[in-house]
Amino acid sequence: MAHYLCPVCRSPRKVHLQDRLPLITHARIATSLVGLIGALLLGGAGPWALRLATLYLPIWAVLEFAHWAEQKAQTKCRTCDFDPFLYQKDWRAARVAVELRLNGIKSEMLAKNSPARAPEIAAEAVH
Ligand SMILES: [Zn+2]
Repeated sequence: MAHYLCPVCRSPRKVHLQDRLPLITHARIATSLVGLIGALLLGGAGPWALRLATLYLPIWAVLEFAHWAEQKAQTKCRTCDFDPFLYQKDWRAARVAVELRLNGIKSEMLAKNSPARAPEIAAEAVH
């Protein structure tokens, strides 16, 4: 578990980072495949069932990608949309994303507190 402040907006962030898939996930993939192959062999399937062991690699690749995508989503700041992964690849694109987000927040706040809404805001305050 990593605790840090967003370098742009200083909001506190807490993420659980791991570079690779946990070992338990590899064990789960292997156990599932062994169980599937065993069931097929006991069910009378031929030796072709052993070839299902090659499914380990594509399953591992898909889960590794899903893990990477989850890590990327966790590190992105929910307040200002700062994305450290994007910043490493292209800092200009990361800057544009943050500016768009912050300008959106600013325009939302301006719209919320605009003088045209003054009667609505006063009515909300009364209730
Ligand atoms: Zn931020």
